[in-house]
Amino acid sequence: MKKVLEVNNLSVSFQTYGGEVQAVRDVNFELHEGETLAIVGESGSGKSVTVQSIMRLLSMPPAKFKSGSILMNDEDIVTMSEAQMEKVRGQEMGMIFQDPMTSLNPTMKIGRQITEGLIKHQGMSKKDALERGIELLRLVGIPNPESRIHQYPHEFSGGMRQRAMIAIALSCNPKILIADEPTTALDVTIQAQILELLRDLQQDMKTAIILITHDLGVVANAADRVAVMYGGKIVETGTVDEIFYAPKHPYTWGLLGSMPKLNDTKKELQSIPGTPPDLKDPPKGCPFAARCPYAMKVCDTYMPEYQHSSDTQKTACWLLDERAPKVNPPENIFVGGVKEHE
Ligand code: SF4
Repeated sequence: MKKVLEVNNLSVSFQTYGGEVQAVRDVNFELHEGETLAIVGESGSGKSVTVQSIMRLLSMPPAKFKSGSILMNDEDIVTMSEAQMEKVRGQEMGMIFQDPMTSLNPTMKIGRQITEGLIKHQGMSKKDALERGIELLRLVGIPNPESRIHQYPHEFSGGMRQRAMIAIALSCNPKILIADEPTTALDVTIQAQILELLRDLQQDMKTAIILITHDLGVVANAADRVAVMYGGKIVETGTVDEIFYAPKHPYTWGLLGSMPKLNDTKKELQSIPGTPPDLKDPPKGCPFAARCPYAMKVCDTYMPEYQHSSDTQKTACWLLDERAPKVNPPENIFVGGVKEHE
């Protein structure tokens, strides 16, 4: 599959009154045509800052690229001018957010919001843009698109607004669609419909998707590959099967353990004890050491290198070092059927 994005050694910091927050630290990943990469982690893990860096949506300052590159078509997004970036955002990438109201303009009819980009970036006439807008609304499953296109966002339900936002994001035929917690605000039925819609559109349009979520249920049903982030770093990556059925990192074990299981009779969700590290003064060694039940002396002092368990799975954990004691993942993380799509 063709590579559409390559993130190399990306580090992003924020200048605050309390000091420099190292939100993203030396992050590397690739994205290929037609695949969905889920980036998962608790809030503050750096996942949203990573994708906002890719879209160059962060205010600079206080944010700052400290190092690294974000390559798209062999060009580095990090060093692009704002004019170049506007083109990229209008023609190469689309973004959908958790709350459609943050990206939909409540004072503007849906039609104008869809057609604006088509006229500006694709050079369409008003009439052609309106026709394409109707086609896009139909594509994302909005009934009566001919009349709906003349309505305001508040006249749409939550699920319909999310569909409209997807239509706007797709209007430029983006190579990459970034979806930041796209279904978190929706009820379970609508959530499933939106995920199915994204999957169908992806198959038709070969769009690559970066899906940001803290919900592993969403990951199981939507992703091909997963990057697990913690403390501003990617601590494990693998295919969705590797992450769910052969996870290697204790933080991934913790995330899986805190996920509700189908045959779980206990109603209480298990959370990972402790809190994420302070990224104003990140740990020298493994970022998860303070919460990890398996932490060893070396973990506090030295950051583990990635160990490859397959061509597609790599994990930054000292437990994978040949000198480390053999530790098996806790049994409870595998209980229940998490993959509803199989
Ligand atoms: Fe735990 Fe050490 Fe592995 Fe970090 S490197 S996850 S502290 S065992």
